[in-house]
Amino acid sequence: MARDGTVSSVHVDLPAAVTVVTRFAPSPTGELHLGHAYSARIAWGRAREAGGRFLLRIEDIDIRRSRREFEAAILDDLRWLGLGWDGTVRRQSEHFADYGRALDALDARGLIYPCFCTRADIAAATDAPHGPDGPLYPGTCRPLPREERRARLAAGEEHCLRLDAARAAAEAGPYAFADETHGRIEGRPLLFGDVVLARKDTPTSYHLSVTVDDHLQGVTLVTRGEDLLPSTHVHVLLQRLLGYATPAYAHHRLLTDPAGRRFAKRDRSLALRSLRESGKTADEILALVGGS
Ligand code: GLU
Repeated sequence: MARDGTVSSVHVDLPAAVTVVTRFAPSPTGELHLGHAYSARIAWGRAREAGGRFLLRIEDIDIRRSRREFEAAILDDLRWLGLGWDGTVRRQSEHFADYGRALDALDARGLIYPCFCTRADIAAATDAPHGPDGPLYPGTCRPLPREERRARLAAGEEHCLRLDAARAAAEAGPYAFADETHGRIEGRPLLFGDVVLARKDTPTSYHLSVTVDDHLQGVTLVTRGEDLLPSTHVHVLLQRLLGYATPAYAHHRLLTDPAGRRFAKRDRSLALRSLRESGKTADEILALVGGS
């Protein structure tokens, strides 16, 4: 208000226009195949048609299986297809500190615990119910007394870090997420049980690093194969626990070979490299995956 009592200017906080930000997030553990081209084309197309941003993320937390040659080949294949990305490529193995901060935040609230069990220990608990990734963890290490935990950690005993899913579910409350293909989906926080958030061999996990990165990179629309739809229940749970916004999801169908089998990295004939070597053009590949 000006001195004479008139309103000199009106300031309205308009919401910033939402820019569509999508990403393609391959793991550099093999060559890209037609299924990847299909997936990348969708993410690229959704960003381009909205005047948004298409990001490329290299999911190389599995240091033993990831190879720089595969990463270089991924970049080269995408360029060849004409699916250029915006900004720099985020390589997950360079961001362990970011995942560590998220783990610390969960730890401070008592939502994670170290688990010292071996695969054999878990397999021995045969009455454990099954989740999308196999038997659910029976919770053996969840009630370990603080002293015992401390002593075993101090002794350098190998361990992973697991989410206390029941506690997390209670803290997060009921939730749902929207998928373009499948509609509104009620969140199932216990679907993966006490899921691993930091593996024994690497200080994070697929679920944690994807959730943290989508947040830090400002991804607004996650497009990926419907094989990853179950994982979204965990990702949205983590978003709620960590105070992140939940993006929109569009899980797409998976391309299959003529026999109806999912494309896999082992099918060399469907690798973009070999199709290219056999004389296929980028336009022909894009036409094959429905995006010429
Ligand atoms: N890195 C995962 C894969 O290659 C995809 C991750 C995601 O899109 O969330 O299957």
